[in-house]
Amino acid sequence: MQGLMSSYQLTLPHLFGRAERLFADKELVTVTRGGVERTTYGEWAERTRRLAGALDALGISADGRVATFAWNTVRHLELYFAAPCSGRVLHTLNIRLFPDDVVYIADHAEDEIVFADRSLLHVLWPLVDSFKTVKHVVVMDDGDDAEIPDDPRVLHYEELLAGAEPVAKFSIEDENQAAAMCYTSGTTGHPKGVVYSHRSVVLHSMGSMLADAAGVSERDRVMPVVPMFHANAWGLCQAAVMAGASLVMPGPNLQPKPLAELMEREKVTLAAGVPTIWMGVLPELEGRDLSSLREILCGGSAVPRSLSEAYREQIGQPILQAWGMTETSPVATTGRIKSTLQDRSEDELADLRAAQGLPIALVDLRIVDPGTDEELPWDGEARGELQAAGPWVAAGYYNDERSPDSFTEDGWLRTGDVATISPDGYVRLVDRTKDLVKSGGEWISSVELENAIMAHPKVAEAAVVGIPDERWSERPLACVVLAEGEELTLDELKEFLSGRVPKWWIPNDMEVIDEVPKTSVGKFSKKTLREQFKDRQSAPAR
Ligand code: ADP
Repeated sequence: MQGLMSSYQLTLPHLFGRAERLFADKELVTVTRGGVERTTYGEWAERTRRLAGALDALGISADGRVATFAWNTVRHLELYFAAPCSGRVLHTLNIRLFPDDVVYIADHAEDEIVFADRSLLHVLWPLVDSFKTVKHVVVMDDGDDAEIPDDPRVLHYEELLAGAEPVAKFSIEDENQAAAMCYTSGTTGHPKGVVYSHRSVVLHSMGSMLADAAGVSERDRVMPVVPMFHANAWGLCQAAVMAGASLVMPGPNLQPKPLAELMEREKVTLAAGVPTIWMGVLPELEGRDLSSLREILCGGSAVPRSLSEAYREQIGQPILQAWGMTETSPVATTGRIKSTLQDRSEDELADLRAAQGLPIALVDLRIVDPGTDEELPWDGEARGELQAAGPWVAAGYYNDERSPDSFTEDGWLRTGDVATISPDGYVRLVDRTKDLVKSGGEWISSVELENAIMAHPKVAEAAVVGIPDERWSERPLACVVLAEGEELTLDELKEFLSGRVPKWWIPNDMEVIDEVPKTSVGKFSKKTLREQFKDRQSAPAR
């Protein structure tokens, strides 16, 4: 017997129309070079309709790729809806990628038009002649004084909107139509394109609204520090539109002090960013009124237990960790503590928060032995490759022959992360497959070792990479950034680690570095460190 319910299509025009009709007076805030811009969902909706009309007038193809090269702003949010609601595909270009990668991505996606913030023109414009399919570059003036090139390809955002006919009705017939795309940096070779559908974006947004996920609601004032060009700012902007939550967009200034000021002044309730951001912001929160803040969401790389605890001690709120990938839209787990586990000791709770958390509803996870492909038990001990399936998990990459390597025969995504899952269902990432250190045939988790090192009071940041060793094949090298004015010897570090990690994990090699190199999205770049220390032989074990 079949169900008798409507097969109503899950598409972005529904989210758009809801914000326009129900929340027209809700505030949207953007900080740009020119100052603070305040607007409402009502004005945003009107401009989004005009923008879609402008795309029509420019002759952008029915499913043309509309690229953005922009900070987190309300203008960017206009593009986030004008492109997919008019049937086109939003393509967020990562402004921090190497120029060659940007050109590869824009060509591979066949972008027809790029919308760029004026403050980013100096990065984009030198690439424009290399693009094969881009016909127009639209400049969004964010108060920067960068010169705007006098070139027939250049258009001005506000002029375009002012002259455009607003689209009266948005309608997407097929929920599986592409809505957006985002490229993810592969470990080798070119970046790979992930293509989100209307259905996947709608369901992921709803996932973000679940109380046990980010719990985005109409009452929120959401501040996505995570860029809109990286995994769609973790879906928070679309979730905010769906819920009718206000957004506080930080624009280009991501320094700790302005972010802390913004959180206080704009009464932010939910703020999201990678660990590096929250490490910097914490000292700036001292003495501020954060009574509105209900959650700091953090992911992208492991949230050190010490960082979450420092937030709990200083502002009375630990960090909520989330795990995901561009391929998973991205949110797949959140580290909420189940009600049945609340009575554990403070120490155990802190430990639990340092895990990546429980899969959120509709996401299926499993761990698999990479050698035999056998599913491993959820006993908190067995380590295997984490695999994911669900309505917002990718099933393939755009036009890419490497796709089969990343998906199993039964259609699950191979994440490249190594994890354990506890009997309670808490996922704990041990490492990425490529970052594990293989010592004497056994794996050392670089992430766990880093966390143990970062717990040392004299250490500000630490990254661990494998270096060649004649006897053990690889040994861990501790690359350590010291806290200001501190000194640390290898022996002190070894003594500290003894009893905290297995004996054979304790590094015999340490390098004090000024800063851990970061990737384009602020994660530790182990690739750079491995390259830097590739000729270093490990010291003999003592
Ligand atoms: P990439 O960094 O490879 O370009 P993503 O930005 O999509 O791609 O990052 C996904 C990866 O980031 C995950 O596979 C995982 O290794 C890492 N990651 C994300 N969240 C967390 C977390 N909470 N803890 C540890 N690692 C994380």
